Formats: sequence, C-alpha cells, structure tokens
Amino acid sequence: MSASVLLIYTGGTIGMLADPRSGALRPMDLAHLEDQVPELARVGVRLESVAFEQPIDSSDMRPADWVRIADIIGANYAQHDGFVVLHGSDTMAYTASALSYLLEGLNKPVILTGSQLPIGTIRTDAKENLITAIEIAAAKDEQGRAMVPEVAVYFEYRLLRGNRTVKVHAERFEAFRSPNWPALAEAGVRIKYDRGAILPHRSGSLVVHDRLDDRVAVIRLFPGIRGAWVKHALSMPDLRAAVLTTFGSGNGPTDPEFIAALREARERGMELLNVTQCVGGRVEQGRYVTSQAFEQLGVIPCADMTVEAAITKAMFLLGNDRATEPFAQRMVVPISGESTLV
Ligand code: ASP
Repeated sequence: MSASVLLIYTGGTIGMLADPRSGALRPMDLAHLEDQVPELARVGVRLESVAFEQPIDSSDMRPADWVRIADIIGANYAQHDGFVVLHGSDTMAYTASALSYLLEGLNKPVILTGSQLPIGTIRTDAKENLITAIEIAAAKDEQGRAMVPEVAVYFEYRLLRGNRTVKVHAERFEAFRSPNWPALAEAGVRIKYDRGAILPHRSGSLVVHDRLDDRVAVIRLFPGIRGAWVKHALSMPDLRAAVLTTFGSGNGPTDPEFIAALREARERGMELLNVTQCVGGRVEQGRYVTSQAFEQLGVIPCADMTVEAAITKAMFLLGNDRATEPFAQRMVVPISGESTLV
C-alpha cells in the first residue's frame, strides 16, 4: 500500500499563479495542483490536502498560525505517514523552529517547503521542491519507520533540520543554510540521507502543545548602541524575555550605561538570552572580558542556536511554565536538536 502524505498549504509564492491578464500573483486552488504538476501522479504517494482559508504571505505569520499548523498535524497524525507544509520562505525558519517544539514526541516527517518562483512560471523551483518534499515525507527505513522523524526544511536539493535553518538569500534558489548542523539529506540522482544527522525515533505518542507567549523581543547589538535606548526598550511593561544578538562568540559593549540597563531588567525578573549575530559558531560567554558582565548578570548563553530557534523556544517555554526547572536551565537543554551541548 502506498504511503499517504498530507499537504498543508499556508500561502507563499509556491502556491501562487500568475493571473493570465494582469500578471498579478494570486493563490492557486489546491484542487488544481495536479494540473500544474502532472508529475505528482507518478510519485506513487496518496496525497490529501488542506489549506488555510486565507493563504498568507509568511511575513504575516503569527504564533497563532504556528499553533494552527501544529493542530492540523495533530488532528491528522494517525491517518498519514508524513506532512508537507507549503509555506512562504521568508519566515519558514521561524515556523519550522516553533513546530519542532510544539510537536512533542513527533515520529513522522513534517517537511516545510516553498519556492522562490511561483509554481506556474518557467524555470520555477517549486516543482522540484514540492515533489522531493513529498518523497521525503513518504520515505521509510528498512523497518518501515519514517526515515525523517522530525521537522525539516527542504529547499533546492537539501533537507535541513528546521530549527537549525536560516534564510540567507532573497533571490537565489539556494535560499537556506544550516550553518551549525549537517544537511539531513541531499537530493541528487537519489535522495541520500545522513542517518547520523537525523533525530532518532522517539518513544511515546505525539503531544501537540498550543501555548506560546509572544511577550519577547530581539535586540540586535551594534557598535555605539546607546544604553538609554536599550533601557527604554527593556522597560516595556509586559516584556518577559529578550534575545540579545551579540558579537562573535557572544560579546557586547562594556559601556556602563548599557550594562546597567541589562542589570535593571534582570532585577525585574526579565530573561535575557545571548545568541550570536554570526551565521555559524557558538556563544562562549565569559571567554572574553566583553561577555563577562553577561555571565555575571545571568544572561542565558544560547550556544549555537539560531535567533529563530531561540526566540520561538523562549515563546514556547514561557507559554508552558513548568515550575520544576528554571527557565534558564530549560533554555539550554535541547528539546528537538536545536542546539549542540559540548
Ligand atoms: N514573501 C513570500 C513569503 O514568504 C516569499 C516566498 O514565498 O518565498 O510568503
């Protein structure tokens, strides 16, 4: 019996068609997907689809939409072998990261894909991305278990762990990278899986979480950043956590006004996270004098996490308070392969 895959269309370029008269892009009716991609009939997978009533550009995605996608997967989990989420590429890395926390105990593939050009255009990257993502979502190992039991992003011949992914190019077909984790698979003549890089199967059943706390912010440091400005930003009354994107291996200015702004926020109970601005590598807080104050103030070093993975993890942990372990401890323990412990 052939595998069954559920396509979840949320919006983005991949599902757009150019209006023959005006040329303007509008969302395609998924029922006509096979007209656009007749090759789907030959993939040998049973396909079903659901779509957001109002497909959205991924710049309009909100945490409630991530929960909506997780809910769709939860409601259809038993009926399908895998899931392909069609999504705009702009914020795909955030959605993938959020889903990797919301879907606890996931043992089936959830593959996000999209494209840089709409499906109906010549030279489109959409067809290859869609077809291969479906093949991966349906792929089984020798024991009949899912080959990729995790949330991943497939784009331009590479399968990347979702919560390790960053969008690095606005135009190239090769738009994503996973600087701190190897690709889970490469698609050439055959799809080659790197089994050592893929998460192991998990025991227990799927638990779909539905709470995310969006009272979080990101402050990108830059040379000359004013302490008074940081103080103002951190005094938002309901802000609970802020990700500081820092220099190099987690460094920042030693300017007393800047440090005082962080201290005040910490004294009010705010969680501060240290994520590097570098595309690759990890935070090593305390290695340089310029990160010692962070260490003393209890800023949480986020190792080699991406900003996308850190901000969504903060939302997830704040939304799912378990009083037993402190936030800082839960932030540094990987939930779904989003960081590497040394
Ligand atoms: N702006 C679009 C989106 O992210 C771009 C894309 O689909 O890749 O929804």
